[in-house]
Amino acid sequence: MTGSPAIRPAGRNKPFDYLIVGAGFAGSVLAERLTSQLGKRVLLVDRRPHVGGNAYDEKDAGGVLMHKYGPHIFHTNSEEVFRYLSQFTRWRPYEHRVLACVRGGLHVPMPINRTTLNMLYGVNLQTEADAEAFLASRAEPVEKIRTSEDVVISQVGRELYEMFFRGYTRKQWGMDPSELDKAVTARVPTRTNTDDRYFTDKFQAMPLDGYTRMFENMVDQKGVTLQLGVEYEDVRDEADFDRLIFTGPIDEYFDHRYGKLPYRSLRFQHETLDQPWFQPVAVVNYPNEETPYTRVSEYKHMTGQQCDKTTITYEHPSAEGDPYYPVPRPENQALYKKYEALALETPEVHFVGRLATYRYYNMDQVTGQALATFRRIAEREGS
Ligand code: FAD
Ligand code: UDP
Repeated sequence: MTGSPAIRPAGRNKPFDYLIVGAGFAGSVLAERLTSQLGKRVLLVDRRPHVGGNAYDEKDAGGVLMHKYGPHIFHTNSEEVFRYLSQFTRWRPYEHRVLACVRGGLHVPMPINRTTLNMLYGVNLQTEADAEAFLASRAEPVEKIRTSEDVVISQVGRELYEMFFRGYTRKQWGMDPSELDKAVTARVPTRTNTDDRYFTDKFQAMPLDGYTRMFENMVDQKGVTLQLGVEYEDVRDEADFDRLIFTGPIDEYFDHRYGKLPYRSLRFQHETLDQPWFQPVAVVNYPNEETPYTRVSEYKHMTGQQCDKTTITYEHPSAEGDPYYPVPRPENQALYKKYEALALETPEVHFVGRLATYRYYNMDQVTGQALATFRRIAEREGS
């Protein structure tokens, strides 16, 4: 795929200043900024037949607004990111709550909090200090916390680790938590209070009319030409452009020169049910290893949509399929660094986003990364 795209010397009167590959958060934010702020002409392409990347949502045959690539909940501490996206959507306040199904059917709050402990152990921990002491009596000291197993065991001990984390992680990643970087399970905190929200960010909300509408508003700019169902390879040599922004997998861009970067995939099993509700909260996790899926999501809790039917999604982790997650572990990071070095030798191409920078980033982090890339481009243009 790589090498030298049809990038010709700058300054000629070409149809496009930028070719942007990928119309997810990374590509759409940059298309919007480059056109609206710098008056650039942008060709934005995506191999999928829609905008939004993995955040794409649509009404299914039953009329239920659902997320084609699994549940996407927006949360951020960045006022800049929230304000930026607010130009393209109004919001619906939404705080995400998750239950874990353990011991063959008991539903308890996840992340583990004081209520979780009281329900599981039939105790009556009343204060944070009570819960801290309870966890401290179970936690196993770990000298140097490196892995996803270390993080959890050092906080809650082996029993809770096995109940909530070991099976889920083995299913999700196809490997044991001891083989994964600590950052993976550290995404899920342990609490001694009774806060049962999944996230504690300052801004937590869902786009009022859905993600797709937000993306449509974002890319609806004079200067953006959007082509869907189009591969980078198919436009690389035909399109006339000065610079390239690539938001797909970085190893794919460089023709897997150093071998494939591992990405984890999922198979989404979507079902529309002829009943108003399926489960009490938006997401129920199934951490036991025997259940083949990791979690079940019910979108109406997130979107607030009123209707007689409901749509749910089972997530079946898989080694094959579209790349959804970079796999955080030291050897993969080392391989990524080799690709990053190639990227640095290719300054006329910007690599942005979760797949192109091989980072386990949430939507707000990708938006922030794209805004930072834009600022660097604008500075360079100004100088
Ligand atoms: P993507 O959304 O992957 O967009 C890249 C686009 O590039 C794709 O549309 C792809 O088709 C296109 N592309 C790639 N290569 C080519 C090519 N060669 N030619 C043409 N097009 C190409 N984040 C949150 O903040 N909250 C959540 O609740 C959340 N839940 C998630 C749940 C799941 C199951 C997954 C997988 C991710 C979740 N995320 C969540 C993360 C979120 O999806 C990402 O942070 C965000 O979508 C990344 O945006 P991106 O633009 O980097 O990449
Ligand atoms: N995790 C777990 N049990 C859970 C929830 C999460 O073991 O009930 C671990 C698992 O390894 C997962 C990681 O924590 O991949 C991060 O969870 P998160 O909910 O952030 O995953 P995402 O929404 O990104 O898939």
